[in-house]
Amino acid sequence: MAASAGAQTIAFLGLGHMGAPMARNLVAAGHRVVGFDVVPAALDAAKALGIPTAADALEAVRGADVVLTMFPSGKHLLDAYCGAADDGLLAAAMPGTLFLDCSTINVEEARDAAERALAAGHRAVDAPVSGGVVGAEAGSLTFMVGASEDDFAAVEPLLAIMGRRSVHCGGNGAGQAAKICNNLILGISMIGVSEAFVLGEKLGLTHQALFDVASAASGQCWALTANCPVPGPVPASPANRDYRPGFAGALMAKDLNLAMNALTSHGVAARMGPLAAQIYDTFAAEGGAGRDFSGIITDIRDRSAAGTGPGDEAAPTDAANQRKDNA
Ligand code: NAD
Repeated sequence: MAASAGAQTIAFLGLGHMGAPMARNLVAAGHRVVGFDVVPAALDAAKALGIPTAADALEAVRGADVVLTMFPSGKHLLDAYCGAADDGLLAAAMPGTLFLDCSTINVEEARDAAERALAAGHRAVDAPVSGGVVGAEAGSLTFMVGASEDDFAAVEPLLAIMGRRSVHCGGNGAGQAAKICNNLILGISMIGVSEAFVLGEKLGLTHQALFDVASAASGQCWALTANCPVPGPVPASPANRDYRPGFAGALMAKDLNLAMNALTSHGVAARMGPLAAQIYDTFAAEGGAGRDFSGIITDIRDRSAAGTGPGDEAAPTDAANQRKDNA
């Protein structure tokens, strides 16, 4: 599509599973997108989707109104923003460029990145997403946004192309804060729902009977009614397709590690969160990384069959040990 009036020039960096379909939706809406990814295969795949690309990140950023990043981690983001010797994206962009980061990263890293962008004379927004690859392709993501009122108003029309809902959560970093708090609830509640189904199996309850009661009672939650960990009651849930994601175990483990960092640095006396983080670390390390996180129910069944009793600790993984060492 030709660029329309009101079209913006958007440097889109990080054309992976999420970034490529998000960039494609911006192209389809008539914006001038210049994409870049450090992995040549991702760049080629983006070109095949019709996304114009640049030879490097700095070329993409020069002349952009908006620099949108969709990276694996906060380290990737800060490295890219600052470069090896303050010769990164912040230095290359025109003054007043709007830096919009949609990656899921630590709250402190998001605040640091925003401060650096503002100090360099730019505008900064953190807007992590939920909705996964399916939502990125369909343009139905939810964005959790940390920004000033003005910067939120400036990015809202772009977010409306890539998503269905944007919630302004507060100032810089508030989007990341909302994302990890939500996923802390989600990770813990999926374990609770899964333990209840395994207990129900032992007690002779059918999956449908437990679902019919809990979904209409106080056990109701998204983990049960949308992403039910047993096949049958919710036909669209990943359990009906052998736990093909959905939301992969590796991403749940990542997000709970981000939540752990925040719980630790803010002195929250949490008990369920650290245990959930350890449980998903083990799940991801033992074959669940690419499976939907609701596949945790198979781990509970396996551990039950092996005679592991209630409250017996999962063997800490290297990642969990490392976290303990860092605490
Ligand atoms: P991905 O690994 O598929 O894509 C990230 C891309 O960033 C990679 O292609 C990588 O090469 C590129 N990259 C890294 N550094 C770069 C740089 N300096 N310049 C240009 N490109 C660079 O990851 P993804 O699944 O697309 O996820 C992206 C982010 O979205 C992550 O933070 C993830 O936690 C979050 N997220 C993912 C999902 C999901 O379902 N995949 C859902 C919600 C949120």
